[in-house]
Amino acid sequence: MNWKFSNAAELLGRIGESGLGYAEWLIARDAFNAGIEAEAVRAEIGRRMMISRNAIEQGVASPKRSFSGLTEGAAFKVASSPLPPPVADRFFGLAITYALAVNEVNACGGRVVAFPTAGSSGIVPGVLWAWRDAREPGLNAESKRLQDAFVAASAIGVLIAQRATLAGAAGGCQAECGSAGAMAAAGLAVLEGMDFADAIDAAALSLKNSLGLACDPVAGLVEVPCVKRNAFLAANAITAVTLARAGVRSAIPFDEVVGAMKAIGDAMPAALKETAEGGLAATPTGRAWKERIL
Ligand code: SF4
Repeated sequence: MNWKFSNAAELLGRIGESGLGYAEWLIARDAFNAGIEAEAVRAEIGRRMMISRNAIEQGVASPKRSFSGLTEGAAFKVASSPLPPPVADRFFGLAITYALAVNEVNACGGRVVAFPTAGSSGIVPGVLWAWRDAREPGLNAESKRLQDAFVAASAIGVLIAQRATLAGAAGGCQAECGSAGAMAAAGLAVLEGMDFADAIDAAALSLKNSLGLACDPVAGLVEVPCVKRNAFLAANAITAVTLARAGVRSAIPFDEVVGAMKAIGDAMPAALKETAEGGLAATPTGRAWKERIL
């Protein structure tokens, strides 16, 4: 079996040649690369899903306040307000709440799964666990259907990492939260019954909408704008799948969107790549926070 691919078109080709489903193929590839059985890969997926679930539970259970004071319990506030929120349905409300919760736990030094990074760790589990809670509460971390959604999301991360970057320091926040939004869109798309090729197109829709996003963390801490940005990129993913389900296609294929992301990241000044020297970090209030904290 040829396990190599360098872009989405090749990945879809390999999966098609194999006769396997996308998740089976990707898990078999991981198992081959790690020298373990596919069941062991699935067990690890389930274990990491539960780490993200525990972060959600912690984040909504009580206000999370970080040492710096920049994180102040946004997830608890949203979770404590009556759901469904007046402007959205229960799934949407849970998704943004969960995305905040995981990232607040990260900001407070708690345990999360980098998905694909710690700063963007709330978006994928936020959207996918919210879908589980709102739509199919009978599914759990051992359920193939839910695991396969995390696999679809992970595949998008692999595709972006291979051709661009997932690091804010190299490509701006488009590479971290932007990638996570695309990953969440793919996972949500398969949960909504779309095939993997269409899920990749939904990922393209989401990624296009975060191109150029700067990495400008106040005081160099992964809190502002990171925590709330997780909620907004969760919304991005849900919007992408809403469009994709209705038959709206990305005018630019996924692989070309990733290429554009790489080019934009390369053109970004260093001040907008995690140096905390530009953007929000350089505002008068951002600088005042930095002086107070450091
Ligand atoms: S702003 Fe920078 S540090 Fe914060 S999540 Fe985005 S890439 Fe990470």
